[in-house]
Amino acid sequence: MMDGGNYSGMRPINLILLGPPGAGKGTQARILEEKFGLVQLSTGDLLRAAVAAGTEAGKAAKAVMEAGELVSDEIVLAILKDRMADDDVAKGVILDGFPRTQAQAQALDALMRESGQKIDSAVSLSVDDEAMVERVSGRFTCGNCGEGYHDSFKQTAKKGVCDKCGGTDMKRRADDNAETVRQRLDAYHAQTAPLISYYESRGCLSRINAMAAIDAVERDLEAIVERVSA
Ligand code: ADP
Ligand code: ADP
Ligand code: ZN
Repeated sequence: MMDGGNYSGMRPINLILLGPPGAGKGTQARILEEKFGLVQLSTGDLLRAAVAAGTEAGKAAKAVMEAGELVSDEIVLAILKDRMADDDVAKGVILDGFPRTQAQAQALDALMRESGQKIDSAVSLSVDDEAMVERVSGRFTCGNCGEGYHDSFKQTAKKGVCDKCGGTDMKRRADDNAETVRQRLDAYHAQTAPLISYYESRGCLSRINAMAAIDAVERDLEAIVERVSA
């Protein structure tokens, strides 16, 4: 009902997508960005950009990311605050991969309070761990426009060519291998999964079945956006 570009007139809302590597956070964040004009804010993307640019933060984060561990709260919060200072975030944000620790969640609450905003919903993407190894191992991305694909679950129409922009420079992440994924799943369960009850106790948690097909997950998320923005 709301498809076809931005849904102008919707008040800005702020969503968190919570879920392990491979749950579909990035895929769904991009869809919501296109559909509702919200801004995708991925700390993973911001960190990879810092690594590529060779900044101090990037240098400190590189080895940690390659090992599948979490980058320090200090670095991640500095990078996030920097990005949150940009004007476009006033349209509302989809936080993809942030917060990942209790300290990050508390810092985010403080940041929201300071700017008179709130988290409208934290959406937990429920999945089976075992399926995540295949999802992450088969992931690739267009180096030109950032569109995400999968060897089995979301193939390009023409092999090696991006459906969105026609680009042919497909990228795979250094940390998207089976061993590192297991490390990242462990980090998720130890440090991030406790945030599900954190947001539940604040009354803003939603859960969706993210083992379903991409378009089914999309419909569940749209229903949440429509509910919280009503
Ligand atoms: P995350 O950002 O949570 O790590 P992604 O959105 O990058 O996850 O998705 C991981 C991989 O799985 C990508 O290759 C993506 O195309 C694919 N994928 C995403 N959602 C689904 C889904 N519901 N079913 C099957 N594959 C999916
Ligand atoms: P995925 O959703 O597939 O796990 P991301 O792109 O979100 O991948 O994150 C990749 C890596 O970047 C993580 O394994 C971690 O090292 C680092 N990272 C991203 N976001 C955070 C965060 N909020 N806190 C700490 N580390 C982070
Ligand atoms: Zn592309």
